[in-house]
Amino acid sequence: MASRKHTDVMDYTDGMEMLDSGVMDSVLGRAAAFDQHSYSDKDVSAALEGVCDIEGFAALLSPAAGCHLEEMAERARNETRRHFGNSVCLFTPLYVSNYCSNECVYCGFNCRNRIHRATLGLKEVTKELDAIAATGLREVLILTGESRTRSDVEYIGECVRLASERFSTVGIEVYPMNSDEYAHIHECGADYVTVFQETYDPERYGQLHLAGPKRVFSYRFDAQERALRGGMRGVAFGTLLGLREDFRSDAFACGLHAMEIQRRYPHAEISLSLPRLRPAGGVNNQVAVTESQLLQVSLAYRIFLPFAGQTISTRERPGFRDGIVGLSATKISAGVSVGIGEHSGEARGDGQFVISDPRDLAEITEALRRNGLQPVMTDYMRT
Ligand code: SAH
Ligand code: SF4
Repeated sequence: MASRKHTDVMDYTDGMEMLDSGVMDSVLGRAAAFDQHSYSDKDVSAALEGVCDIEGFAALLSPAAGCHLEEMAERARNETRRHFGNSVCLFTPLYVSNYCSNECVYCGFNCRNRIHRATLGLKEVTKELDAIAATGLREVLILTGESRTRSDVEYIGECVRLASERFSTVGIEVYPMNSDEYAHIHECGADYVTVFQETYDPERYGQLHLAGPKRVFSYRFDAQERALRGGMRGVAFGTLLGLREDFRSDAFACGLHAMEIQRRYPHAEISLSLPRLRPAGGVNNQVAVTESQLLQVSLAYRIFLPFAGQTISTRERPGFRDGIVGLSATKISAGVSVGIGEHSGEARGDGQFVISDPRDLAEITEALRRNGLQPVMTDYMRT
């Protein structure tokens, strides 16, 4: 097979806005120096005693902390209680298009996959939104594959406008945009932007993102900053756990990324997601990260960034999700479909990956209440 020539993952392509804030160099520099084997039991205990600084965070992510999960959980639970009480926010994702121009090797929407593709018309979007609103949810996250032709900024803006007429909180998880485009989407009614960096190792990133605009690591890295400059209220970060053997290093970089943005944009609402790789469209991804390692990452995030929200998705099974909310996660999805058009009962396009928790809103809220937690549909009033 002829080998394809791949571009450098740091090379911007036409139309991509460049920021020069220094966050990427700072995060990547520190992450490169992270040595998971250099931490001892003593370092972990020290991190758990006082304020957890960057070195403490590294210790909590290290293998040495694997036998301190009980103590970490206790500290994390206290931090979560202090900053969030017993509230857990609920939301659901809405996929409006699965066309994509990228070749992410792990994803069902990879442009090379021969799947059923669709972009919902605005009438269909309205139907989906109405079906979700009828369940009682008040927060929705609009997702697309990354196609600037099949789901352009105007279209995403229209979807957001329709969503903001029905929901008090609207977020987007779409392709990274320039700050003026984020400003437009914000104007249409969205307040939150989620972009997962997938892996913080540029070399590994290049092996996983073979073609398309997403191949540009640096443009993706600065997405949260551009979103905040565009007026968004909050931004979410994530590393897709299981893409890289050294997932601890990715989690370390992800926490630092969130911390650096919080420092520079103190008003921003920061949150972290904990996506773990799932089987997708013919790719049976090997999950190298165990549940207890995932838990360790979540607890370390909570102790290092006590004020940051944490979202647990349906990539995880019900028992795990029920256990982690209240401990360190503060937001959970319900009634999830990762296909196109399924909320109102007509599947139009194939799904992104296989989910592990199909429970609807009533089942999730019941589970939360059983655990003494308060399901919160909205924590924001639109004026
Ligand atoms: N296309 C956009 C937004 C939708 S995809 C983007 O790529 O950002 C949202 C996230 O789904 C991606 O960031 C990736 O982390 C995650 N994802 C993709 N394939 C997955 C898989 N097989 N298992 C779990 N998560 C996956
Ligand atoms: Fe497209 Fe996002 Fe899937 Fe990559 S992860 S193939 S960009 S939908």
